[in-house]
Amino acid sequence: MELTRREFLQWSLVTGAAVAFAGCGIPPHQALISQAELPEYRLPGVARWYATTCQDCSGGCGVSVRVIDGRAKKLEGIPAHPINHGKLCAKGHSSLQALYHPERLTSILKRQGSDFIPSQDWNEGIGALRKQISSGSMLWIVGSLYGTLGALTLEIAQNTGAKIWVLDFPGRNSQRAAVKALTGKAELPYHEIVKSDYVVNFGSDFLLGGNMPVHDAWAYGEFRQGKNRARRGTLISFSPRMSLSDGNSDRWVPIRPGTEGWVAIGIGNVLAQSGKKGWPAWASKISLSEISQKTGVDEDVFHRVAKKLIEAKHPLAIAGSENGMVSNGVWAIAAIESLNHLMTGKVVSFEPDLIPGAKAIPANVLVSTKQAMAGLKKGQFETVWVMETNPRYLLPSKLKFDELFSKVKNKVAFSLYRNETTLLADWVFPTQTWLESWGDRLISGPWKEVYNLQQPVMQERAGTKSLGDILLMAAGESKSVHETLKSRVKDESIWENMLVRGGAWKESSLAWEGYLGDNTHPIYPPPVVANQGNPPAGVNPWNGMKKPSITGEEESQFSGEGQVLIPFYSPNLGDGSLANRPWMQELPDPMTTVVWTHWVELPIALAQQLGVERGDVVKLTSANGTLVGPAYPNLALHPEAVAVPVGQGHYHYGEWANRGSNPLSILEPIWQKETGELAWVGTRVKVEKVGGKSRMTTYDQREDRFSKEFLPL
Ligand code: SF4
Repeated sequence: MELTRREFLQWSLVTGAAVAFAGCGIPPHQALISQAELPEYRLPGVARWYATTCQDCSGGCGVSVRVIDGRAKKLEGIPAHPINHGKLCAKGHSSLQALYHPERLTSILKRQGSDFIPSQDWNEGIGALRKQISSGSMLWIVGSLYGTLGALTLEIAQNTGAKIWVLDFPGRNSQRAAVKALTGKAELPYHEIVKSDYVVNFGSDFLLGGNMPVHDAWAYGEFRQGKNRARRGTLISFSPRMSLSDGNSDRWVPIRPGTEGWVAIGIGNVLAQSGKKGWPAWASKISLSEISQKTGVDEDVFHRVAKKLIEAKHPLAIAGSENGMVSNGVWAIAAIESLNHLMTGKVVSFEPDLIPGAKAIPANVLVSTKQAMAGLKKGQFETVWVMETNPRYLLPSKLKFDELFSKVKNKVAFSLYRNETTLLADWVFPTQTWLESWGDRLISGPWKEVYNLQQPVMQERAGTKSLGDILLMAAGESKSVHETLKSRVKDESIWENMLVRGGAWKESSLAWEGYLGDNTHPIYPPPVVANQGNPPAGVNPWNGMKKPSITGEEESQFSGEGQVLIPFYSPNLGDGSLANRPWMQELPDPMTTVVWTHWVELPIALAQQLGVERGDVVKLTSANGTLVGPAYPNLALHPEAVAVPVGQGHYHYGEWANRGSNPLSILEPIWQKETGELAWVGTRVKVEKVGGKSRMTTYDQREDRFSKEFLPL
């Protein structure tokens, strides 16, 4: 008998679901659906739209998902949403590929010798987790901590004595620490681009890689040509490497790596000389000629930019997570945000990772990367659970995470796919995408709280469970995440309203910047009631962060010799977790148009000195290893730097991701003293031409790399 692919998938879905139904109580409607007696929400060929929240980054975008015949087909931004105003980014759109990915895990994997055996026995799996949870000395490694999932994680960790390590690249704690130093609140800086008329950006790629990329990109559009503004805003950028946001500026000034904070000090000194009050005395004593030498920026530039800032009605300085990638990152961000304080009398901040309904969170539950690695080295943890992150890929090889993790007695990973870390685990539990599961995100800021609800838009992939539900079962709780969310809302009509709108926010937050969204949208009209339900109160898990004291100058540290290696956050592949989505691999890098591989950006002068042209193979050598890749001589790179995107270089992340090289693996671990996090930009490398050409496909030379059907089933 021959089967078409569709018939085969339907058949395997039915048999897979039937096995799961027998094993763990999945309701019968998931096993078979009769076309004659369809559920009332399903009409063949008729589209339904469900409102939910994208969780592919901290942006908090409201999403409406078009679902036909029970399958999600297309994502759109919710027009009246106060954060994203109807827009979505490429990452958000590509979530459909995560949902339908042919390499998703659909069974529990249980180690047997050097291999895994697949299992649908959730009772056995949850039993193993329960035993571990009561054994004490646990470390949980998570990629982010937010919403009700964060609340559950924190609550269970508190009750069991587990420590939580939030491992994110490039990390946002330097931003939180800097804002804490200035305002006392451990929050992220919020930049009111939409209101500004003269913006100085210090290397943040806010359009694609900031804390709220779609929101900031929308605000940038309004800043440049919004219908409410009298004239186009001006953007000036200082950075060692031109990003997309820098490329959109009116003037880009290359600076020496790790000196963004010093540029801010230079501008602040001129502003202070012109009579602005409140600039630190220690900074004012440093001469412009000294700052010019440190940064490579002409003294004249400081004067010209300061003059424009004084003339501006709404001046703004932007610091991003990129500024926190150096060892003096907290100091640098504090210097940049101090400029905002000097110019406007305030530092505006927000927090996208609030924990709704939580009590105060003890500071000792959260550990830094440095503390976690020290604990692993001492053999302090009997059990390590890795939750939807990939430390083996993200950490420099010199930290020897694989060796230390291998020695742990109980190793568990929760993941959508196999990856480098799951390869070492004893148990791997298959989790769900945000399109299949319940969740939320509570964001506070100048607009007051916005509560985003995340609801499943279609049935989950058979054999998977949401991470939140797995944790609840492991902790012996009878409630699911869905029930936990719903129990917080007393009035059924408010719950219904939240399901329709994608969350709850006050009317004032809709109008917080004077923009009410698209009132003409047929599916998501603006709210007709003043309030759609009050957002729940939330606690910032980082409240216990120590307040750094910034009392003088601080230099960034670099180890080794040669060029400074900048491993930059890829606008398409993020921290590498999106490398297995073909849409994101196929999407040309916005600055180079390279697709499907990594590349090594060299300053033009160095490329000429080495006789290197585009595509020639070059080798970077640090004290911690080598990386080989195709050269991309780049005019828009400081002469002391080389730059490589993060995201490629997987070796156990599936057919689409296993390609290229990972610059993080050759870094020297340098620590930030204020946060205990890694300074990702702190390694110098030697550059050599090794001969030969490497295949580097730019968009105009691309081949069709789709070897498998990758569409909704
Ligand atoms: S910015 Fe993009 S990835 Fe982040 S929440 Fe919005 S759509 Fe999702």
